[in-house]
Amino acid sequence: MGELWSNAYVKIGLTAVLLILLKVAADAIQERQVYRVHKGPRRARHSPLESETTLVPRYRLRDDLFSPAEASFYHVLLQTCAGWAVVLGKVNLGDLLYAPREAGEAQWAMWNRINRKHLDYVLCDRQTLRPLVAVELDDASHRLARRAERDAFVDQAMAQAGLGLVRVPVQQAYATAELGQRLRQAVLQPQAAVAAVAPALNETTVGAPVEAEPCAATVDTLAPEAPQCPRCGGQMVLRTAQRGVRAGQPFWGCENYPRCRGVREVEG
Ligand SMILES: [Zn+2]
Repeated sequence: MGELWSNAYVKIGLTAVLLILLKVAADAIQERQVYRVHKGPRRARHSPLESETTLVPRYRLRDDLFSPAEASFYHVLLQTCAGWAVVLGKVNLGDLLYAPREAGEAQWAMWNRINRKHLDYVLCDRQTLRPLVAVELDDASHRLARRAERDAFVDQAMAQAGLGLVRVPVQQAYATAELGQRLRQAVLQPQAAVAAVAPALNETTVGAPVEAEPCAATVDTLAPEAPQCPRCGGQMVLRTAQRGVRAGQPFWGCENYPRCRGVREVEG
């Protein structure tokens, strides 16, 4: 070892390693202090949880919840549908649409495709907040290939779900009378609003076999004579009313509840 230490190269090498270790330690201490400064004056530790947050970076507020163009058009929309709708912004497609149980194994993939995609605006009924029509503000980015693919998928999904989608190109000024007319028309004829842009149903995204559906634990009874849901066409299951004047009485409820609230009376 003594012989090894006498070697000048080994000496230099070990010294360098020692210096690097010192530098790493000093950086770590400094970083700790920086976070403490950001946190403000240190308070007495009240709980173990609080003491653990010392080194955790904080969340920051984004400046771009709405871009200037989106914010400007939001006010145009508010003005345009003031008498008949409220305007919601940045609505998750996964909160607006759902994949029905009849999709079977495709249900999860269908869900993945809509979750974390957002619509710029959704106009809803002022009283019930039922979605009436979706609006997308298209800027230059919509011409990019990836964006175009996303738009085509959204158009198709909306057409399938039967909710109108109106696309408006970004402009300096908007003709509110004409916009109002387009929106009202899309509410009255949702299929017409998207038919022009929506291709035929794509088998890889929708065409799941109906018989693949497993029976979930939440289903009370799936009787052989189960009727179809009047709202979505899905299977209905026999349930028992828990509350209200009909408490204890059976009724047909949709297998897609609570996403579909279709009900039927039990006959006979
Ligand atoms: Zn239903």
